[in-house]
Amino acid sequence: MYDYDLLVVGSANADLVIGVDRRPGAGETVLGSDLAVHPGGKGANQGVAAARLGARTALLARVGDDGHGRLLLDSMRDAGVDTGGVLVGGAPTGVALITVDPSGDNSIVVSPGANGRLVPEDVEAAASLLQASRVVSAQLEIPMETVEEVVRGLRQGTRFVLNPSPPRPLPPEVLAACDPLIVNEHEARVVLGADAGATPSEWAEALLALGPRSVVVTLGKEGALVSDASGVAHVPSVKVEAVDTTGAGDAFTAALAWRLGLGESLAEAARYATHVGALAVTREGAQASFPTASEVAAL
Ligand code: ADP
Repeated sequence: MYDYDLLVVGSANADLVIGVDRRPGAGETVLGSDLAVHPGGKGANQGVAAARLGARTALLARVGDDGHGRLLLDSMRDAGVDTGGVLVGGAPTGVALITVDPSGDNSIVVSPGANGRLVPEDVEAAASLLQASRVVSAQLEIPMETVEEVVRGLRQGTRFVLNPSPPRPLPPEVLAACDPLIVNEHEARVVLGADAGATPSEWAEALLALGPRSVVVTLGKEGALVSDASGVAHVPSVKVEAVDTTGAGDAFTAALAWRLGLGESLAEAARYATHVGALAVTREGAQASFPTASEVAAL
């Protein structure tokens, strides 16, 4: 009845990473390591994470007609993502320029590039993709109007999942469509503004009062809180040796969205997603760290 378990609408970035002894100040030049180029961006990360788990996954995104765009398309295809909905051209591929010092602290400059050119008309033109998908997942590295158009274009019965990252206040129609809204602490505070409250369960309750059908607050190594009309529940995480947390939230969200589409309850899907998130932090990198379903089963 659906061609896709999950449609991800979102960003695709090339992460350009240079290791430095010390991050430069204003007007300063420092020498760094060889450049490493990794496929990234929250949309592409979620797509790759879901496909690697075995979900039938499609991506609606925009990349530039350049080498970075081809790198991203290749990594998505290798993972098994249907990239037929990835538009090419209009601006250079989005880039994140990342410097990392020996303590692991980083400085990042993002050029949204083609991600900023994924416009509502692109969503209208992809109506058949939206109609063919059981769950649709979005983030905020693309224009808010584009996310609003996604919400308008959802088929009756299609589930919508939003990770509002980078966070900003959300329009009521977008909030009302979320089932769930998935946030970490920082995102919860920005979406809630001054009335944030002090504890994760207060954030979950306050977010639910804004209109979504359900809310998930991710808590890093503490796991996640899930909240809907039936109450708030804590889903503990799996104890692992954390090596690199990059992309853990994206892997968690993709896994949760897929499992909800399979008919699991919010708590069941979140339990599965905490296993996926935990495995993702045990390995270096973002997309390179995402597990397969058999690795999750073995955990
Ligand atoms: P984000 O990366 O968006 O800030 P979190 O850090 O909360 O999100 O991580 C998302 C999920 O990944 C968590 O809910 C948890 O399940 C898993 N996770 C993250 N860090 C760890 C960790 N150190 N140990 C085990 N699981 C983790």
